[in-house]
Amino acid sequence: MQPEVILLMGPPGAGKGTQASALAERRDLRKLSTGDMLRANVSEGTDLGMRAKALMDAGELVPDDLIVAMVRSELDSMRPVRVLLDGFPRTPGQAEALDGLLAEYGAEMTAAVLLDVPNDMLVERLLKRAAEEGRTDDTEETIRHRMSVYEKSTRPLIDFYAERGVMHRVSGVGAVAEVTSRIEEVLD
Ligand code: AMP
Repeated sequence: MQPEVILLMGPPGAGKGTQASALAERRDLRKLSTGDMLRANVSEGTDLGMRAKALMDAGELVPDDLIVAMVRSELDSMRPVRVLLDGFPRTPGQAEALDGLLAEYGAEMTAAVLLDVPNDMLVERLLKRAAEEGRTDDTEETIRHRMSVYEKSTRPLIDFYAERGVMHRVSGVGAVAEVTSRIEEVLD
């Protein structure tokens, strides 16, 4: 099997987690969600979890070095590297570190997919998720802050990957299966 690295990007509430699970299964990739990994660390009460919790609850990013170390240990045991990245990289520093890691493991970014969803729909979806899942960072105030963090720290990655010719934009509006098909269309 060939290495394959697919990145799902988009603002909070765009549906990255849902689509990442569906695509990982269909393409035989391992879903790597730094948000899920951090939440697992928080609930297990690890050192990392204790350092990350307050930042996560405030909608701030966890420092790059902690995130990169966590991703490195996950990729270390994977040959070939076949991953569906959800919520990582989120800053230019993380994107550069990822390039280094992938080069070490004989892989490179195959495709980055941006899920486009209008802003008003994002807030609505996140408030609905808050009611259903009870995530502690899904309050209205934190949601707004996470969106501004996305604009400032993560949006620049769109240009970073567009310049390499691996960036695709897909509408994230519609039924889950419809969005999954749109993504698969640009990947094949
Ligand atoms: P998510 O589940 O991807 O929305 O992530 C939830 C929270 O975990 C974020 O608001 C951040 O506090 C933290 N987090 C997840 N992934 C990263 C990352 N790649 N870099 C920094 N912080 C992250």
